[in-house]
Amino acid sequence: MQNTQYHFSKLAGKLKSSMIRELLKYANVPGAISFGGGTPDPETFPRHELAQIASEIIEKEYKYTLQYSVTEGDPELVRQILVLLKRVYGIDGLSSENILITVGSQQALELVGKILLDPGDYVLVGDPEYLGALSAFRMRDPQFLVVKFDDDGPDINMVEQRIKDLEESGQIRYLKFIYVVSNFQNPSGITTSFEKRRALVEIAQKYDVLIVEDDPYGVLRFEGDFVPSMMKIGGTERVILLNTFSKILCPGLRIGIIVADKSIIRKAVLAKQGSDLCSPSLTMRLAARYLERYDVLEQIKTAVTLYKQKKDAMVKALEENFGDIPGARWTNPQGGLFIWFTLPEEYNTMEMFEFAEQNKVFYIPGEAFRPHDEPSSSMRMSFCLPSIEGIYEGVRRLRDAFEKYRASKGL
Ligand SMILES: *Cc1c(COP(=O)(O)O)cnc(C)c1O
Repeated sequence: MQNTQYHFSKLAGKLKSSMIRELLKYANVPGAISFGGGTPDPETFPRHELAQIASEIIEKEYKYTLQYSVTEGDPELVRQILVLLKRVYGIDGLSSENILITVGSQQALELVGKILLDPGDYVLVGDPEYLGALSAFRMRDPQFLVVKFDDDGPDINMVEQRIKDLEESGQIRYLKFIYVVSNFQNPSGITTSFEKRRALVEIAQKYDVLIVEDDPYGVLRFEGDFVPSMMKIGGTERVILLNTFSKILCPGLRIGIIVADKSIIRKAVLAKQGSDLCSPSLTMRLAARYLERYDVLEQIKTAVTLYKQKKDAMVKALEENFGDIPGARWTNPQGGLFIWFTLPEEYNTMEMFEFAEQNKVFYIPGEAFRPHDEPSSSMRMSFCLPSIEGIYEGVRRLRDAFEKYRASKGL
């Protein structure tokens, strides 16, 4: 069996295991404190309510829940989603033809790639960027135009410069979309300001490209003011909005949403038919009945209050432990699950990882979120899972790991 050579596709040849999975292998050892996980706290999942509804809908609605669904998604869930979209984003005039329910927004990202990208096409993304989106788009072998993220979103001058360069080289028609996680970006926690959202929509209009706005965290805002979505500013003509129940209800249902122009939804439906025929009827109806009976935006308030306390604890712990390091800085997000912590340039958080691991504290090195895998002096720190005491203790261990790493480098 040694020399078996399977004739994999070129695509399969390019697939590699996620660095995150490799790195977090030991994050569950006893006594470890992990800031690495990107998942919500399971204690926030409404398990009793969902168990009750699941039993009812399997018994009473089995003709729907145990059967194939239409590809577009459960009409009952689509109805609930239209109500939620109006409440959350204040968007009027959407109908069921503007909605496709997907298996998590991960599938939404993949479908968007399938219907818009040919190999070699351009996608504009941030540095850092959401890894799941990069992986989904990579299935289509595009070229990433990368722009730096400032504290208030993508560097707009850089966006314009990249696009002008493409225009000058006659390649602009191969730029298909700009991807932005607009609120509390994963990994940085950065929210794109209203001014920058407007600027991005204007750029998209000027150069006739689409914006893919991914917003899993918008309703996890614990302070500060709501910022209108790019979908609200630019409409379905210019913007494809992706959302998900993963961060506000539970990821296990695997329910994501594409909101877009009817003609885009139509193509995405056809692409989805080639992937999986339809999303699971059972979890779609489960979510629909849950949304009918409970106010999901009220239900998450307790969790969001707790996330704020944890975020405040992490910011305070960083101030206490790294406030004396010139050049060390961190974001202070108004929502979401992540803080982006940056050490002075001469440090590399991938190299530092082994020292952190010895101290039983875990994070994700920033390199994982760079579209071209370059070294990084930043790290993603999730504050949602550890306890408040765990956060203080973990950041102290991180400082100690930093000292050991610094000594090893002779800095
Ligand atoms: C968590 C997350 C998602 C959600 O993915 P699902 O497939 O819906 O679980 C999408 N986009 C971003 C930026 C995320 O952080």
